[in-house]
Amino acid sequence: MTARIIIVEDEPAIQQMIALTIIQAGYKPVYAHDAEEAMIQINEALPDLILLDWMLPKMSGIEFARMLRRNSRTQRIPIIMLTARTDENDKVSGLEIGADDYMTKPFSPRELIARIKAVLRRRAPEALDEMVTIDGLVFDPVNHRVTTGNNEVTLGPTEYRLLHFLMTHADRVYSRAQLLDRVWGDHVFVEERTVDVHIRRLRKALEAVDKEALIQTVRGAGYRFSAHADPTLDMS
Ligand code: CA
Repeated sequence: MTARIIIVEDEPAIQQMIALTIIQAGYKPVYAHDAEEAMIQINEALPDLILLDWMLPKMSGIEFARMLRRNSRTQRIPIIMLTARTDENDKVSGLEIGADDYMTKPFSPRELIARIKAVLRRRAPEALDEMVTIDGLVFDPVNHRVTTGNNEVTLGPTEYRLLHFLMTHADRVYSRAQLLDRVWGDHVFVEERTVDVHIRRLRKALEAVDKEALIQTVRGAGYRFSAHADPTLDMS
């Protein structure tokens, strides 16, 4: 899955430079010039990461980060603060309000990508191109294939992303709202029963390779992907 990264930066030249670096590393840049534009993008779909300039017109980057951390929907979005300042106190306050990392301009493209990768690895394993194997089911994001032995599982794009999220977050229960936010990037405008529809399709696709039992329904809570049976789970 390609990670979407919002670049909140009011200086076009710097924004362009960052965007090029991000594209070369295989991520998808989303542009915002201030907090307000960033919020519009976030309302449409939750990003995997925000690169947030400290000095922005109107609301400052630090105020915006604080606002995101106060809201339950946006509080877990990884944030890397970008700043021209070198004052250690600024760095400390940036990290205190909950930024995941902090970079002082100018920085090299290599350094930026290294920091992005580190933050994504901590926060969202599904954003990485690592192969995952659970109970013989192999998810290969690089070749975009899901297999068991010699059998390939055919999946629609949504089922593919849903399976990737579930396999990289196995053995944990996720509510429909959480799945909408993490897989669809939105739990505000998409209905919760959408999740059930795609879970059903995913189970059907996995049935062909006899792996549908990996997706467990947890009554009143949501869904869990696990190779371990749990007697308290409703397998319907
Ligand atoms: Ca600026």
